Amino acid sequence: MSEQRLVKISDDALARALGADKLTAAFEKKGCEVHRTSSWGMQWLEPMVEIDGIGWGPATLEDVDDILDGGADEICIGRIDAHPFISRQQRLTFARAGKTRPTSMEDYEATGGWAGLRRAKEIGSEAILAEVTQSGLRGRGGAGFPAGIKWQTVARAPGAQKYIVCNADEGDSGTFADRMVMEGDPFLLIEGMAIAGAAVGADQGYIYIRSEYPDAIRKMNEALEKCRDTIAPFRCEVRVGAGAYVCGEETSLLNSLEGKRGEVRAKPPLPALEGAFGKPTVVNNVLTLAAVPHILTEGGSSLYDSLGIERSKGTMPIQLAGNIKHGGLFEIAFGITLGELVYEIGGGTESGRPVKAVQVGGPLGAYIHPDQFDIKFDYEEYTAADALIGHGGITVFDDTADMGAMARFAMEFCAAESCGKCTPCRIGATRGVEIIDRIRAGGRAPDEIERAPQMHNAPRHGRSAGDEIGLLTDLCETMKFGSLCALGGFTPYPVMSALKNWPKDFTGKTSAETETAE
Ligand code: SF4
Repeated sequence: MSEQRLVKISDDALARALGADKLTAAFEKKGCEVHRTSSWGMQWLEPMVEIDGIGWGPATLEDVDDILDGGADEICIGRIDAHPFISRQQRLTFARAGKTRPTSMEDYEATGGWAGLRRAKEIGSEAILAEVTQSGLRGRGGAGFPAGIKWQTVARAPGAQKYIVCNADEGDSGTFADRMVMEGDPFLLIEGMAIAGAAVGADQGYIYIRSEYPDAIRKMNEALEKCRDTIAPFRCEVRVGAGAYVCGEETSLLNSLEGKRGEVRAKPPLPALEGAFGKPTVVNNVLTLAAVPHILTEGGSSLYDSLGIERSKGTMPIQLAGNIKHGGLFEIAFGITLGELVYEIGGGTESGRPVKAVQVGGPLGAYIHPDQFDIKFDYEEYTAADALIGHGGITVFDDTADMGAMARFAMEFCAAESCGKCTPCRIGATRGVEIIDRIRAGGRAPDEIERAPQMHNAPRHGRSAGDEIGLLTDLCETMKFGSLCALGGFTPYPVMSALKNWPKDFTGKTSAETETAE
């Protein structure tokens, strides 16, 4: 057994939750030097141990001696960078994942850090704006709005004081890419924000993080402290939010940032013109800003020309979660199909049962049926399929999932998280839960079934299950087009896609059978 060996173990929150700290202590006790690096993003293998490029995972305390002796073959994955999950990726944003110590300035600089900011300072505002626009970079938070156009609007807005706000309120189910950037490569985000500042003339930035991300908050603060001189005259600070889903909505986030109630603001005015504290503000998601240093280092046209399809350019960090065998982070150029992601990359379900549905884009994303798995990861393809790619989260369900219950959950989630400002969302979501309950109870109120089970199949107030489905459809239309923001406006996606694809989970019948029964 060798002494003084360099062992790498991730200090990502997920790896720590699975025992990485204890594993570190055990290797140190054996005389090894342990570097706590970022995570490679192969979550199913955490906590993973790396020695000389070879990986073992998931490793336990019992494996320590065997690993140091070159054994533990059953959990050895060989060279990590040759693993198919890694070698198939096109990592730009996550190029350092697994390789560097998150808050080490030395590691960051040694791997090309600050090159983008250096170049940005050399070429100046107009050229930065041109590069970002030319790159085709679109907001990775969900809206997909071109970053270059947003930046140009802020740059040309009148006023001496402007801000860069990073939306790090990652709240979608099954998403963790923002957290991985902040915990694993915090200087990358800061560099992206400093470049944005140089582009639009903003000398102050804020990173808005939800309180459920204590590791990310700690690391961002540590990194900001270390690189203060490097990013000057740009300054940046972390603001912690309590963790309301609606605070991921940019105007609600701005209210919360200012110390007000996290309620959505009506637009106009656009935040680009009147954002934080009433000043022109760039509000971008973590992944959008973290993509910027690479664009500035390589030149905007390289991304535009070589990566992605149609109007979806560059790479997307896709997060595989839910009932999936190989859950983790997979960064690849736009254009990969959902089927490839679920079966080839993700290995199918963890339970080994058939895939029933995949929800793409968080709790407000549509449920995609396996028949649609040839859909390509691309903003426009998803819009055409009445779906969204959102923040790139993919949550897999096997055939035991009850899609009627999942649709109910979407309405319930919307009711719980609504900021209450507009009626379609505030009241519509509550009524939506009730209607779904009645559909699932055969057109009767569930409490009436309790009281009079013999009446189970009789319609209530003359409304059959089919009538209730019509009502739900109308309600969803109202929410979609009448809501002020995406929370109410997108809730119909999971509800209607579940109803369309798995009607039996609502009524026990197919759509045709329900119509015939009316
Ligand atoms: S849709 Fe919902 S969350 Fe959005 S503004 Fe209206 S009430 Fe608030």
